Amino acid sequence: MSRLFNFCAGPAALPQTVLERARDEMLDWQGRGLSVMEMSHRSEAFISIAEQAEADLRSLLAIPDHYKVLFMQGGASSQFAMLPLNLGGQGGTANYIYTGIWGQKAIQEGQRYLPTHLAASSEANGLTRVPTPSEIQLSTDAAYLHYTSNETIGGLQFDYIPEVSDDLPLVCDMSSDILSGPIDVSRFGVIYAGAQKNIGPAGLTLVIIREDLLDRAQAQTPTMFQYRVCADHASMYNTPPTFAWYLAGLVFDWLKNEVGGLEAMAQINQRKAARLYHTIDTLDFYSNPIAKPNRSQMNVPFRLADASLEKTFLKEAEAAGLLNLAGHRSVGGMRASLYNAVPEAAVDALTAFMTDFAHKWG
Ligand SMILES: *Cc1c(COP(=O)(O)O)cnc(C)c1O
Repeated sequence: MSRLFNFCAGPAALPQTVLERARDEMLDWQGRGLSVMEMSHRSEAFISIAEQAEADLRSLLAIPDHYKVLFMQGGASSQFAMLPLNLGGQGGTANYIYTGIWGQKAIQEGQRYLPTHLAASSEANGLTRVPTPSEIQLSTDAAYLHYTSNETIGGLQFDYIPEVSDDLPLVCDMSSDILSGPIDVSRFGVIYAGAQKNIGPAGLTLVIIREDLLDRAQAQTPTMFQYRVCADHASMYNTPPTFAWYLAGLVFDWLKNEVGGLEAMAQINQRKAARLYHTIDTLDFYSNPIAKPNRSQMNVPFRLADASLEKTFLKEAEAAGLLNLAGHRSVGGMRASLYNAVPEAAVDALTAFMTDFAHKWG
Protein backbone atom coordinates (compact mmCIF):
# COMPACT_ATOMS: atom_id res chain seq x y z
CA MET A 1 0.00 0.00 0.00
CA SER A 2 1.24 3.48 -0.76
CA ARG A 3 -0.46 6.84 -0.65
CA LEU A 4 -0.37 8.81 -3.88
CA PHE A 5 -0.61 12.58 -4.33
CA ASN A 6 -4.28 13.53 -4.43
CA PHE A 7 -5.37 16.82 -6.05
CA CYS A 8 -9.10 16.13 -5.75
CA ALA A 9 -11.39 19.18 -5.44
CA GLY A 10 -13.56 17.39 -2.89
CA PRO A 11 -13.85 15.15 -1.03
CA ALA A 12 -10.20 16.08 -0.78
CA ALA A 13 -6.95 14.85 0.71
CA LEU A 14 -6.71 14.61 4.50
CA PRO A 15 -3.46 15.00 6.46
CA GLN A 16 -1.77 11.63 6.71
CA THR A 17 -1.15 12.00 10.45
CA VAL A 18 -4.88 12.61 10.96
CA LEU A 19 -5.72 9.39 9.15
CA GLU A 20 -3.07 7.51 11.13
CA ARG A 21 -4.48 8.79 14.40
CA ALA A 22 -8.02 7.88 13.35
CA ARG A 23 -6.73 4.41 12.44
CA ASP A 24 -4.99 4.01 15.80
CA GLU A 25 -8.11 5.13 17.66
CA MET A 26 -10.56 3.29 15.42
CA LEU A 27 -11.39 0.22 17.51
CA ASP A 28 -10.84 1.65 20.97
CA TRP A 29 -11.01 5.40 21.47
CA GLN A 30 -8.73 6.37 24.37
CA GLY A 31 -9.33 3.22 26.37
CA ARG A 32 -13.13 3.46 26.32
CA GLY A 33 -13.42 0.11 24.49
CA LEU A 34 -15.41 1.38 21.53
CA SER A 35 -15.06 3.40 18.35
CA VAL A 36 -16.15 7.04 18.13
CA MET A 37 -18.59 5.83 15.46
CA GLU A 38 -20.34 3.67 18.05
CA MET A 39 -20.65 6.25 20.81
CA SER A 40 -23.80 8.00 21.90
CA HIS A 41 -23.61 11.62 20.86
CA ARG A 42 -24.89 12.38 24.40
CA SER A 43 -22.02 10.52 26.06
CA GLU A 44 -19.45 12.38 28.09
CA ALA A 45 -16.75 10.98 25.77
CA PHE A 46 -18.31 12.33 22.58
CA ILE A 47 -19.23 15.65 24.14
CA SER A 48 -15.58 16.10 25.08
CA ILE A 49 -14.58 15.38 21.45
CA ALA A 50 -17.18 17.86 20.17
CA GLU A 51 -16.23 20.59 22.62
CA GLN A 52 -12.51 20.19 21.96
CA ALA A 53 -13.11 20.47 18.20
CA GLU A 54 -15.04 23.69 18.66
CA ALA A 55 -12.47 25.12 21.07
CA ASP A 56 -9.63 24.39 18.63
CA LEU A 57 -11.55 25.89 15.71
CA ARG A 58 -12.32 28.99 17.76
CA SER A 59 -8.69 29.39 18.65
CA LEU A 60 -7.47 28.81 15.07
CA LEU A 61 -9.83 31.41 13.57
CA ALA A 62 -9.89 33.68 16.65
CA ILE A 63 -13.70 33.50 16.56
CA PRO A 64 -15.15 36.22 18.82
CA ASP A 65 -17.37 35.12 21.74
CA HIS A 66 -20.51 36.64 20.24
CA TYR A 67 -20.37 34.17 17.36
CA LYS A 68 -21.86 30.67 17.47
CA VAL A 69 -20.25 27.72 15.75
CA LEU A 70 -22.78 25.25 14.33
CA PHE A 71 -21.94 21.74 13.18
CA MET A 72 -24.68 20.99 10.66
CA GLN A 73 -25.43 18.58 7.81
CA GLY A 74 -26.62 18.86 4.23
CA GLY A 75 -23.46 20.36 2.74
CA ALA A 76 -22.89 23.91 1.59
CA SER A 77 -25.68 23.40 -0.93
CA SER A 78 -28.28 23.21 1.86
CA GLN A 79 -27.00 26.54 3.16
CA PHE A 80 -28.08 28.10 -0.14
CA ALA A 81 -31.66 27.60 1.15
CA MET A 82 -31.06 27.88 4.90
CA LEU A 83 -29.62 31.39 4.52
CA PRO A 84 -32.63 33.15 2.98
CA LEU A 85 -34.88 31.11 5.28
CA ASN A 86 -32.94 32.11 8.40
CA LEU A 87 -32.10 35.71 7.51
CA GLY A 88 -35.26 36.60 5.58
CA GLY A 89 -37.81 36.78 8.40
CA GLN A 90 -37.81 40.58 8.35
CA GLY A 91 -38.35 40.68 4.59
CA GLY A 92 -35.89 42.56 2.41
CA THR A 93 -33.91 41.52 -0.63
CA ALA A 94 -31.12 38.99 -0.71
CA ASN A 95 -28.06 40.53 -2.40
CA TYR A 96 -25.52 38.36 -4.19
CA ILE A 97 -22.16 38.77 -5.88
CA TYR A 98 -21.80 36.39 -8.80
CA THR A 99 -18.28 35.16 -9.54
CA GLY A 100 -18.88 31.57 -10.62
CA ILE A 101 -20.87 28.37 -10.58
CA TRP A 102 -21.28 28.01 -6.80
CA GLY A 103 -22.43 31.59 -6.38
CA GLN A 104 -24.87 31.02 -9.23
CA LYS A 105 -26.32 28.02 -7.40
CA ALA A 106 -26.65 30.08 -4.21
CA ILE A 107 -28.58 32.75 -6.16
CA GLN A 108 -30.88 30.25 -7.87
CA GLU A 109 -31.78 28.64 -4.56
CA GLY A 110 -32.04 32.00 -2.77
CA GLN A 111 -34.64 33.15 -5.32
CA ARG A 112 -37.00 30.47 -4.06
CA TYR A 113 -37.19 32.07 -0.60
CA LEU A 114 -36.57 35.81 -1.00
CA PRO A 115 -36.52 38.43 -3.73
CA THR A 116 -32.90 38.67 -4.92
CA HIS A 117 -30.71 41.41 -6.31
CA LEU A 118 -27.45 40.92 -8.21
CA ALA A 119 -25.15 43.39 -6.44
CA ALA A 120 -22.16 42.67 -8.69
CA SER A 121 -21.15 40.16 -11.33
CA SER A 122 -18.04 38.90 -13.04
CA GLU A 123 -20.02 37.74 -16.04
CA ALA A 124 -18.81 40.55 -18.32
CA ASN A 125 -15.16 39.58 -17.84
CA GLY A 126 -15.84 35.87 -18.33
CA LEU A 127 -15.45 35.09 -14.59
CA THR A 128 -11.76 35.98 -14.69
CA ARG A 129 -11.65 38.70 -12.04
CA VAL A 130 -13.76 39.58 -9.01
CA PRO A 131 -15.76 42.83 -8.96
CA THR A 132 -13.98 45.85 -7.48
CA PRO A 133 -15.47 47.33 -4.28
CA SER A 134 -16.99 50.21 -6.26
CA GLU A 135 -18.73 47.80 -8.63
CA ILE A 136 -20.80 46.37 -5.77
CA GLN A 137 -24.21 48.08 -5.84
CA LEU A 138 -26.55 47.03 -3.05
CA SER A 139 -30.33 47.28 -3.16
CA THR A 140 -31.84 49.68 -0.64
CA ASP A 141 -33.58 47.01 1.44
CA ALA A 142 -30.79 44.39 1.51
CA ALA A 143 -31.33 41.51 3.99
CA TYR A 144 -27.75 40.35 3.49
CA LEU A 145 -24.89 40.37 0.98
CA HIS A 146 -23.66 36.94 -0.07
CA TYR A 147 -20.44 36.11 -1.89
CA THR A 148 -18.22 33.11 -2.56
CA SER A 149 -14.68 33.81 -1.36
CA ASN A 150 -13.20 31.12 -3.58
CA GLU A 151 -14.94 29.76 -6.67
CA THR A 152 -13.76 26.18 -6.60
CA ILE A 153 -14.50 25.34 -10.23
CA GLY A 154 -13.31 28.53 -11.91
CA GLY A 155 -10.33 29.03 -9.60
CA LEU A 156 -11.32 32.63 -8.83
CA GLN A 157 -10.65 33.96 -5.32
CA PHE A 158 -11.46 37.27 -3.65
CA ASP A 159 -8.37 39.18 -2.56
CA TYR A 160 -10.42 41.39 -0.24
CA ILE A 161 -13.46 41.25 2.06
CA PRO A 162 -16.34 43.40 0.78
CA GLU A 163 -17.08 46.38 3.00
CA VAL A 164 -20.66 46.69 4.23
CA SER A 165 -22.39 48.88 6.81
CA ASP A 166 -22.67 47.46 10.34
CA ASP A 167 -26.35 46.64 10.04
CA LEU A 168 -25.97 44.55 6.86
CA PRO A 169 -24.87 40.95 7.42
CA LEU A 170 -22.08 39.89 5.11
CA VAL A 171 -22.44 36.19 4.27
CA CYS A 172 -19.67 34.12 2.76
CA ASP A 173 -19.53 30.64 1.27
CA MET A 174 -15.98 29.69 2.31
CA SER A 175 -16.29 26.02 1.45
CA SER A 176 -13.04 25.81 -0.45
CA ASP A 177 -10.77 28.28 1.31
CA ILE A 178 -11.77 28.32 4.97
CA LEU A 179 -8.75 27.61 7.23
CA SER A 180 -6.31 28.22 4.37
CA GLY A 181 -5.15 31.29 6.28
CA PRO A 182 -6.29 33.73 8.98
CA ILE A 183 -9.53 35.68 8.43
CA ASP A 184 -11.19 38.47 10.38
CA VAL A 185 -14.39 36.71 11.44
CA SER A 186 -15.80 39.93 12.91
CA ARG A 187 -16.31 41.28 9.38
CA PHE A 188 -18.95 38.61 8.71
CA GLY A 189 -22.51 37.90 9.76
CA VAL A 190 -22.40 34.29 8.57
CA ILE A 191 -19.60 32.08 7.27
CA TYR A 192 -20.41 28.60 6.06
CA ALA A 193 -18.47 25.74 4.52
CA GLY A 194 -18.98 22.13 3.54
CA ALA A 195 -16.33 20.11 5.35
CA GLN A 196 -14.96 17.97 2.54
CA LYS A 197 -12.44 20.48 1.14
CA ASN A 198 -10.42 21.93 4.00
CA ILE A 199 -12.07 20.68 7.19
CA GLY A 200 -12.62 16.93 7.19
CA PRO A 201 -14.78 14.24 5.60
CA ALA A 202 -18.03 14.92 3.75
CA GLY A 203 -21.21 14.96 5.82
CA LEU A 204 -20.43 17.89 8.07
CA THR A 205 -21.20 21.54 7.36
CA LEU A 206 -19.73 24.34 9.41
CA VAL A 207 -21.68 27.55 10.09
CA ILE A 208 -20.18 30.45 12.02
CA ILE A 209 -22.86 33.02 12.82
CA ARG A 210 -23.06 36.26 14.76
CA GLU A 211 -25.47 35.72 17.66
CA ASP A 212 -27.80 38.61 16.87
CA LEU A 213 -28.68 36.96 13.53
CA LEU A 214 -30.14 33.83 15.11
CA ASP A 215 -33.67 35.24 15.38
CA ARG A 216 -34.45 36.40 11.85
CA ALA A 217 -35.89 33.17 10.47
CA GLN A 218 -38.92 33.03 8.22
CA ALA A 219 -41.84 31.35 10.02
CA GLN A 220 -41.98 28.31 7.74
CA THR A 221 -38.30 27.42 8.21
CA PRO A 222 -38.13 23.69 9.03
CA THR A 223 -37.05 23.06 12.62
CA MET A 224 -33.94 21.18 11.51
CA PHE A 225 -32.89 24.12 9.32
CA GLN A 226 -33.19 26.81 12.01
CA TYR A 227 -29.85 28.20 13.13
CA ARG A 228 -31.49 29.16 16.47
CA VAL A 229 -32.55 25.57 17.15
CA CYS A 230 -29.13 24.26 16.20
CA ALA A 231 -27.39 26.83 18.41
CA ASP A 232 -29.64 26.22 21.42
CA HIS A 233 -28.96 22.48 21.24
CA ALA A 234 -25.18 22.74 20.81
CA SER A 235 -25.62 21.28 17.29
CA MET A 236 -27.26 18.16 18.77
CA TYR A 237 -30.98 18.72 18.23
CA ASN A 238 -30.83 15.38 16.46
CA THR A 239 -27.95 12.98 15.90
CA PRO A 240 -25.03 14.92 14.41
CA PRO A 241 -22.49 13.35 12.01
CA THR A 242 -20.35 12.25 14.93
CA PHE A 243 -17.46 10.61 13.11
CA ALA A 244 -17.04 13.51 10.67
CA TRP A 245 -17.11 15.93 13.62
CA TYR A 246 -14.41 13.87 15.38
CA LEU A 247 -12.23 13.81 12.25
CA ALA A 248 -12.68 17.56 11.76
CA GLY A 249 -11.45 17.90 15.33
CA LEU A 250 -8.34 15.90 14.47
CA VAL A 251 -7.74 18.21 11.50
CA PHE A 252 -8.09 21.30 13.74
CA ASP A 253 -5.63 19.73 16.18
CA TRP A 254 -3.21 19.04 13.29
CA LEU A 255 -3.49 22.64 12.09
CA LYS A 256 -2.88 24.01 15.55
CA ASN A 257 -0.18 21.74 16.86
CA GLU A 258 1.63 20.32 13.81
CA VAL A 259 1.32 23.09 11.24
CA GLY A 260 1.53 25.81 13.88
CA GLY A 261 -1.62 27.78 13.12
CA LEU A 262 -3.19 29.53 10.16
CA GLU A 263 -0.43 32.08 9.61
CA ALA A 264 2.00 29.20 9.04
CA MET A 265 -0.59 27.39 6.91
CA ALA A 266 -1.06 30.48 4.74
CA GLN A 267 2.66 30.69 4.04
CA ILE A 268 2.81 27.05 2.96
CA ASN A 269 -0.27 27.54 0.76
CA GLN A 270 1.26 30.64 -0.85
CA ARG A 271 4.42 28.72 -1.69
CA LYS A 272 2.48 25.82 -3.20
CA ALA A 273 0.30 28.03 -5.38
CA ALA A 274 3.20 30.25 -6.47
CA ARG A 275 5.16 27.20 -7.62
CA LEU A 276 2.32 25.82 -9.70
CA TYR A 277 1.35 29.16 -11.29
CA HIS A 278 5.01 29.77 -12.08
CA THR A 279 5.14 26.49 -13.99
CA ILE A 280 1.94 27.36 -15.86
CA ASP A 281 3.19 30.86 -16.72
CA THR A 282 6.70 29.92 -17.81
CA LEU A 283 5.72 27.07 -20.12
CA ASP A 284 3.75 28.12 -23.21
CA PHE A 285 2.23 24.69 -23.11
CA TYR A 286 -0.10 25.61 -20.20
CA SER A 287 -2.43 28.50 -19.47
CA ASN A 288 -4.67 29.89 -16.73
CA PRO A 289 -7.08 32.73 -17.61
CA ILE A 290 -7.62 34.33 -14.20
CA ALA A 291 -6.45 37.87 -13.37
CA LYS A 292 -3.34 37.49 -11.22
CA PRO A 293 -4.68 39.07 -7.98
CA ASN A 294 -7.71 36.77 -8.10
CA ARG A 295 -5.98 33.50 -8.89
CA SER A 296 -7.12 30.92 -6.39
CA GLN A 297 -4.53 29.60 -3.94
CA MET A 298 -6.65 26.49 -3.45
CA ASN A 299 -7.92 25.42 -6.88
CA VAL A 300 -5.73 25.94 -9.92
CA PRO A 301 -7.47 25.27 -13.24
CA PHE A 302 -5.28 25.11 -16.32
CA ARG A 303 -5.50 24.16 -19.96
CA LEU A 304 -3.07 22.52 -22.35
CA ALA A 305 -2.24 24.41 -25.54
CA ASP A 306 -3.32 21.28 -27.41
CA ALA A 307 -6.61 20.10 -25.88
CA SER A 308 -6.34 16.77 -27.70
CA LEU A 309 -3.56 15.83 -25.27
CA GLU A 310 -5.81 16.11 -22.18
CA LYS A 311 -6.55 12.40 -21.93
CA THR A 312 -2.87 11.54 -22.33
CA PHE A 313 -1.95 14.10 -19.68
CA LEU A 314 -4.38 12.61 -17.17
CA LYS A 315 -3.30 9.04 -17.96
CA GLU A 316 0.41 9.78 -17.62
CA ALA A 317 -0.18 11.86 -14.48
CA GLU A 318 -2.04 9.01 -12.86
CA ALA A 319 0.74 6.61 -13.81
CA ALA A 320 3.14 9.03 -12.10
CA GLY A 321 1.06 8.88 -8.91
CA LEU A 322 -0.74 12.22 -9.39
CA LEU A 323 -4.46 11.70 -8.90
CA ASN A 324 -7.62 13.66 -9.74
CA LEU A 325 -6.29 16.37 -12.04
CA ALA A 326 -9.31 16.52 -14.36
CA GLY A 327 -11.22 19.82 -14.35
CA HIS A 328 -14.85 19.94 -13.18
CA ARG A 329 -17.12 18.01 -15.53
CA SER A 330 -18.94 21.26 -16.42
CA VAL A 331 -15.83 23.07 -17.71
CA GLY A 332 -13.25 20.42 -18.67
CA GLY A 333 -9.52 21.12 -18.79
CA MET A 334 -7.33 20.40 -15.78
CA ARG A 335 -7.56 21.45 -12.16
CA ALA A 336 -5.17 20.89 -9.29
CA SER A 337 -6.64 21.51 -5.85
CA LEU A 338 -3.97 22.48 -3.33
CA TYR A 339 -5.90 22.34 -0.06
CA ASN A 340 -4.15 22.43 3.31
CA ALA A 341 -3.58 18.67 3.42
CA VAL A 342 -1.83 18.59 0.02
CA PRO A 343 1.88 18.61 0.92
CA GLU A 344 4.49 20.77 -0.81
CA ALA A 345 6.07 17.55 -2.10
CA ALA A 346 2.89 16.93 -4.10
CA VAL A 347 3.27 20.27 -5.85
CA ASP A 348 6.94 19.57 -6.53
CA ALA A 349 6.00 16.25 -8.11
CA LEU A 350 3.23 17.86 -10.15
CA THR A 351 5.35 20.72 -11.50
CA ALA A 352 8.17 18.30 -12.38
CA PHE A 353 5.67 16.11 -14.22
CA MET A 354 4.17 19.10 -16.06
CA THR A 355 7.61 20.29 -17.16
CA ASP A 356 8.54 16.82 -18.47
CA PHE A 357 5.19 16.43 -20.19
CA ALA A 358 5.51 19.81 -21.94
CA HIS A 359 8.97 18.92 -23.22
CA LYS A 360 7.84 15.51 -24.40
CA TRP A 361 4.69 16.65 -26.23
CA GLY A 362 5.22 20.38 -26.80
C1 LIG B 1 -17.99 22.23 -2.97
C2 LIG B 1 -18.64 23.56 -2.85
C3 LIG B 1 -20.03 23.69 -2.62
C4 LIG B 1 -20.94 22.51 -2.52
O1 LIG B 1 -20.69 21.82 -1.36
P1 LIG B 1 -21.59 20.58 -0.90
O2 LIG B 1 -21.12 20.38 0.51
O3 LIG B 1 -21.28 19.45 -1.82
O4 LIG B 1 -23.01 20.99 -0.97
C5 LIG B 1 -20.54 24.96 -2.47
N1 LIG B 1 -19.77 26.05 -2.56
C6 LIG B 1 -18.45 25.96 -2.79
C7 LIG B 1 -17.63 27.19 -2.88
C8 LIG B 1 -17.84 24.71 -2.95
O5 LIG B 1 -16.53 24.62 -3.17
